[in-house]
Amino acid sequence: MVSTTDPTISGDDRQQLPRVAGRRLSSGVPLLPLFGHAALRERFRNAIDRQALPGSLLLHGARGVGKQQLALWTGRVLLCEQPAIAPCGTCKSCHLAASLQHPDLHWYFPRPRLKGGEPDLEDIREDVADGIGERLENGGLYEAPGGDEAIFVAAVRALVQTAALAPAMGRRKVFVVGDADRMVAQEGSDQAANAFLKLLEEPPANTTILLTTSEPGALLPTIRSRVVSVRVPPLAESDVRAFLSNETVANQLDCGREEIGELVQLAGGAPGRLIGRDAWQASIAHARRVLDAAVSPDRGAQFRVALAQGGAGARGKFSDMLDALTVLLHERTRAAAREGDTGRAAHAARAIEAVERAKERANGNVNPQLLSASLIRQLATLA
Ligand SMILES: [Zn+2]
Repeated sequence: MVSTTDPTISGDDRQQLPRVAGRRLSSGVPLLPLFGHAALRERFRNAIDRQALPGSLLLHGARGVGKQQLALWTGRVLLCEQPAIAPCGTCKSCHLAASLQHPDLHWYFPRPRLKGGEPDLEDIREDVADGIGERLENGGLYEAPGGDEAIFVAAVRALVQTAALAPAMGRRKVFVVGDADRMVAQEGSDQAANAFLKLLEEPPANTTILLTTSEPGALLPTIRSRVVSVRVPPLAESDVRAFLSNETVANQLDCGREEIGELVQLAGGAPGRLIGRDAWQASIAHARRVLDAAVSPDRGAQFRVALAQGGAGARGKFSDMLDALTVLLHERTRAAAREGDTGRAAHAARAIEAVERAKERANGNVNPQLLSASLIRQLATLA
């Protein structure tokens, strides 16, 4: 069932929504515009102009920075019928892509496991359309997927099968795969996984695959080695402010104009994190405990906080905590600068560097507990 926020479409009409390539289309609620990422947009647009954009790309960066939105935007540029000014926003392709109705723009992301038997291609297509419909209800704003959601092997198989077909409308096909680290590696047969790896390695000339992840360390090495990685940096404050000033966003976050300044700080350049703010606030509280432990003379407390990071399975939460640490330390740098305390500002700046190094290592295969213990020691020497 496709969900819709368009009051003009009744329940009965929804059954009649057009289908393209077997996919039932959602009701045409447009995505929000893409905020920020000017430098990457320029880079991708130039590469597309020169026909030099790699066939498979991995966009990685903090959760909530807009990686999937940037990937969808890139898809719009690739599919636009007026390349010189893509995405022109006026051609048929742009119109369809803006509301994710373009039959050659495919968006996969983690979903709950489908109940009952092994789902076939049609089941997956319906589920993908449902998922997109749910995300579109809020202009494409959504919370991070729950722990039980994944890109299961049936979805991978559907993607590979769809990639083998000719484009339905234009000259190209674009696949956006959000949270690609949630791809389930082996489930029964790994035929689908192997076919996907082959697709990543040598995508057909008319196919572009854009993977995104906020956990590159959790991504299968066999995937990582086959894609060109691009880091998506945090947004500038002015872009976060513009995002928060958007009416749909303000409604979704239930925030008034007077709160924007505070939320800009809380977002730390990744405003998507503010959707499902509870989880992000838990990460901030967690980061505060780490900072407190670092300045505590009680070595036992430091040890306990490090152990509380959990093992390798807790990687996602650990990455969020590191992002939260960066936000807190930036706050301290600003406060110290305001008070003219250059010594303290310099310390906070060095602490930020230590956290950034920990993030790099967290992207590898280092255990969060070990990493956290070493980070707390470094922060303690800076305190
Ligand atoms: Zn266009």
